[in-house]
Order: sequence, then structure tokens, then C-alpha cells
Amino acid sequence: MRTVYLDNNATSAVDQSVLTAMLPYLSTLYGNPSSMYAFAGQASDAIDNARESVAALLGAGPDEIIFTSCGSESDNTAFWSAVQTQPEKRHLITTRVEHPAVLNVAQYWERQGYRVTYLGVDNKGRLDMDEYTGALSDDTALVSIMFANNEVGNIYPVQRMAEAAKEKGLLFHTDAVQAVGKTPIDLRHLQADMLSLSGHKIHTPKGIGVLYVRKGVRFRPFLRGGHQESGRRAGTENVPYIIGMGEAARIAAENLQEERMQVANLRDKLETNLIERIPDCIINGDIENRLPNTCNISFKNVEGEAILLMLDRLGICASSGSACTSGSLEPSHVLRAMGVPFNYAHGSIRLSLSRYTTDSDVDYVIEHFPGIIKTLRAISPYKD
Ligand code: PLP
Repeated sequence: MRTVYLDNNATSAVDQSVLTAMLPYLSTLYGNPSSMYAFAGQASDAIDNARESVAALLGAGPDEIIFTSCGSESDNTAFWSAVQTQPEKRHLITTRVEHPAVLNVAQYWERQGYRVTYLGVDNKGRLDMDEYTGALSDDTALVSIMFANNEVGNIYPVQRMAEAAKEKGLLFHTDAVQAVGKTPIDLRHLQADMLSLSGHKIHTPKGIGVLYVRKGVRFRPFLRGGHQESGRRAGTENVPYIIGMGEAARIAAENLQEERMQVANLRDKLETNLIERIPDCIINGDIENRLPNTCNISFKNVEGEAILLMLDRLGICASSGSACTSGSLEPSHVLRAMGVPFNYAHGSIRLSLSRYTTDSDVDYVIEHFPGIIKTLRAISPYKD
């Protein structure tokens, strides 16, 4: 059976040249980059190159890049550092639609006695700038706003939001895990102090992340121990994965413009055809301002999990809400924050494409999707 992989916001296929770049560091070039001899120097030189590639993708300096184990670690570290370096401040700002890697961290600090403002969204998942600027206070230790949403793909106005935070001298972090490699990010213009990204969303294996920390921003490590990463993240470097991250960043930077167009064209073809062929469905999110690869669509009076099962039988991989919330039958926190009507929210599917998605993949989904919805509606207990 063929596999049509449309769950790239959950994770993505490892790029062949990423794997090729990594392989020597999984076999013959196993030296510890902290060791003094030339054999290990090969690993530390390769790490330097990887750091430069990641920095170039973001418009950052290599010394502003810290390699971590994943996007979640980067997010946790940003909060930790902000809180530890400014113990006098007791307020945090984030949104209701963050990934759990931010939301659960904010809730943790709330339990430690911090006041947390969770910004709401409208029915398209958009934030309100007035609500945001009204929440900024001298007591705010960190503002953390995602660059792009993992479920509906909305791109948030982080540039304007970072500027507003900077005017008040507040620290600004953005979780750019879904945005990196899909939409341009240039930290020469974006005034963020910290930014998180994750390799496995841009075609590395799972287990490598990055935290960007702007030069001059006070920082406290989350992991203490050895002096790796200039004392900002202890632990012997995950050399092969760091090399893979560098190669993935290089490829992303080289192909970003072309790939965005190609992926958006396929996504739009998929979306237009589903909307035309299936009655009573809606596209969730801010259609004018979202990631090129993401389609979040709700079908009235059907259960999202049932759709997923039927898609799975055809080899089509998709997700209902975020991967981390599937398995629970509650509509996702993002769709709930947007106020998507109950009888639609339950039938929501996220289809997320990548550079590997083909026209024939999209045709296959268009061919089978209407029949699945028709079958499920015929047996659905919900009717109105
Ligand atoms: N932030 C966002 C927006 C995500 O989509 C994800 C993963 O889905 C993460 C953070 C967590 O990244 P990781 O899986 O690398 O920990």
C-alpha cells in the first residue's frame, strides 16, 4: 500500500543529504569535540560549521546559537533563563494557542506563584494587539509568543510584538519550531531576544533543537555541568545530530523561497478541491496569513478520529489537532480558544505538507476524502 505522509507538522522525513552528512559522525569520526587532539578536532570543526549554517538561516551570529536536544528543551530554557535572571519580576505573557512545550511551562511557573497572562484569539485564531500591549508591564519577566501555530498554521505578528516589548525593555521569546524553514525569519529585523527551533520539523532525525539567545541578553543555563556550548548548555555534544541540523539549515536557507511556493500551491489545490467536493466543511485559521504547508479543516457532524482511521486504511497519515493531543477526543485547545463550533471542532483534521509531497499524493487524497466523509456522515449519530 502506498503511504501519503501529510503530517509534517508532527515530524518530517529525514533528508537524504542530512543523513549523509551525519553518517561519518555516527561511525568513524566519534571523537569528543572537547578533546585536544586533531582526531576530535574534526568533530568540533564540523560543529562550528553547523553553528554557522543555523546562524545564517536565522540572520544571527554563530555565538548566539545554542544546540539543545529538542524544541521543548529550548522553550523550557527560555522561560528558565528569563525567570532566573530577573527574580524581581513575577509576570509572564503568552497565548492560549501555544504548543504544550510553552503552555505547560507557563502553567508550571504559574503554580510557582507567577501571574501569567494567556492572550486570547478570535475565531480565525488571530491575536489582538491592543490586548497584548495592555498586558505588557514592568513586572513582565518574559513575553513568549509563537511565530507560527502548529495546528492551524497562523503566523503571528511577532516583529511588531517584539518591538512593543522592547520599547518597555522586556524580554521577548518566540517559539519558531513550526516557522523555521517554512517562512522567512531574519533576526536582524526581528527584535526577539530568544527563539526556539527543532530539527525534526525540518528534516533531521528527532532529538536536536536550537535556542537562539541574542548577544548581550543575560542567560542562565537550564542544564548545568560541563562547559559545552560556551557554558550555556552542559552535556557532551550530540555531534551527528548537530551536523544534521547544520545541513538541514543549509538546505532550508537555499530552497526556502522556491519550496514555499511549491508547497503552498499543492496545499491550495488540496484545500480548494476538498471544499468544492465536500459540503459543510470549513478551513480553520487565518487564511491570508499562515504557513504555506498547513491545512486545518473541519467537517460538520463527523468525528476526527474516525476520519483519521479511514485515512490510515488508505495509507494517508494526518492528524486531528496537534500530535500531542490526538488520542483524546476533546477538541484541541487551539480550536477551543478559537471558538470553532462544537459540531465542527470534533471533525477537524490537520494536513501538513512538505517538500516531499507530490501532486499525485494530493490527487490521491482528493480522490478518497469525499467518500470517507460521506460514509461517516451516513452513520453519524449527530444530525442537524
Ligand atoms: N513548539 C511547537 C510549535 C511545536 O509544534 C513543537 C512540536 O510539535 C514543539 C514546540 C516541540 O518540539 P520538540 O518535538 O522538538 O520538542
